[in-house]
Amino acid sequence: MNHDQGPSAADLDAIDVEWPLIAAELDVLDAAISLIYAEDHGGPSAMDWRRVRRAEARVTRTAAELTARQHGHVCRLVEVALTTDCAYGCKVLRCRDCGGEQVSHRAVYGCPVGSSRAA
Ligand SMILES: [Zn+2]
Ligand SMILES: [Zn+2]
Repeated sequence: MNHDQGPSAADLDAIDVEWPLIAAELDVLDAAISLIYAEDHGGPSAMDWRRVRRAEARVTRTAAELTARQHGHVCRLVEVALTTDCAYGCKVLRCRDCGGEQVSHRAVYGCPVGSSRAA
């Protein structure tokens, strides 16, 4: 293995493609942090929760768009199980059409994989 070379063009492309998803996940993290903050100030409001749900919905949508580009169709992801990859109750999603599975690690559940996805 040669580790002297920097990221390949393909690696950079992958980062480029994944960036919207990473940004969406950072939004979830942001919203989750404001929830924690709100707990010290009278509890999260309906608006705080709505912000989390909206951010999560954006992650799901962005992930679907991403796989659509990779698989050539829009995956219709359904929750099939909880993953055994981590102990945080993150979900395994499976596409009804191509059977492709992906694990949705969420920083919101306290999962460190969710918060270090950019790596
Ligand atoms: Zn699919
Ligand atoms: Zn996880």
